[in-house]
Amino acid sequence: MQVPMLDLKAQYATIKTEVLAQINDVLDSQRCIGGPKITELEEKIAAVSDCKFGLGVSSGTDAILDCLMSLGIGPGDEVITTPFTFFATVGCIARVGATPVFVDIDAKTYNIDPSKIEAAVTKKTKAIIPVHLFGQMADMDAIMKIADKHGLYVIEDACQSITSTYKGKKAGSIGFAGCFSFFPSKNLGGIGDGGMIVTNDKGFYDKISIMRSHGGGQQYYHDVVGGNFRLDPIQAAALLVKLPHLDSWSAARRRNAEYYNKKFAGSSIVTPYVSKDCVSIYNQYVLRVPHRDEMLKYLQDNNIGCAVYYPVPLHLQNCFKNLGYKVGDMPVSEKAAKEVLALPVYPELTDEMKDYVAQKVLEFSAKA
Ligand SMILES: *Cc1c(COP(=O)(O)O)cnc(C)c1O
Repeated sequence: MQVPMLDLKAQYATIKTEVLAQINDVLDSQRCIGGPKITELEEKIAAVSDCKFGLGVSSGTDAILDCLMSLGIGPGDEVITTPFTFFATVGCIARVGATPVFVDIDAKTYNIDPSKIEAAVTKKTKAIIPVHLFGQMADMDAIMKIADKHGLYVIEDACQSITSTYKGKKAGSIGFAGCFSFFPSKNLGGIGDGGMIVTNDKGFYDKISIMRSHGGGQQYYHDVVGGNFRLDPIQAAALLVKLPHLDSWSAARRRNAEYYNKKFAGSSIVTPYVSKDCVSIYNQYVLRVPHRDEMLKYLQDNNIGCAVYYPVPLHLQNCFKNLGYKVGDMPVSEKAAKEVLALPVYPELTDEMKDYVAQKVLEFSAKA
């Protein structure tokens, strides 16, 4: 049997006619930049996120970049974040000229450990970027408490956690702004790159909108230097078809996760921990295992797609050598990087596929 890590074709087959019709609308209208599909998607994503405003942008990366630029964060400023995330979170901090300051993660959730944040705050700190990793939100109460005390902005990197909740509150709605990605492998994935910023702050919404189009409010008059961070209407068209399915797709991922959890109960395999405060959307189903690289190879040899998110924590990346971190500085992240293994959890998995994956995982761990 073959079980891929993700099967976008299986999902597309269920919505193909509608997607093509929506795209055809855009083509017929020849509104190739901006237009009604973008506005409709912005309103709908804001609504499902319990936020007042949504702003479509070119990617999750550009969502974070636009936020940092619009806050005027730059050289001399520090931004606190986690080293155990996708590169973009930290790449954006560096690109605006600010200094990323890493705080280690919680060993169970893989999210930033709030008990270690305060020690990292200095006079230069301007913002905290918590990342809601693998579909589960970070401990936002603790983070907001520290941010409020020190007057820091909180930008939620919710690229893996759209519609996920913390104490009933939606991802992106607790901090000053939230960033989503529509990269095809995310729970709500486009047919190319795309992203969205959500916020409840009208003044900030105006700033990020201007920044999205070269920093110009009125065309050809520029108050600030922005970029081209616009969302493509073809992406909005496809996403409008997918959005109504998001909750049922995320529920199917949760059911798949439960299915695996039951299979692994009683074994030595550490299954994903979900805090009682959170509902995860399981962008990834991540095990923690000894002999991880060998298990990865064993599963791949048995035609099972699986992946490591992330093998190298960001404080140890070559491009951040200048920051002066060394091995041992972020021990919890470094250990996780050696032990995590993500299994296929996408909604269209059949029971036979899940049984096969679980069987091979158990087979390997019995031998190892
Ligand atoms: C996917 C992702 C991003 C970047 O999103 P893109 O749309 O690929 O630019 C940023 N942060 C995290 C945590 C992500 O998973």
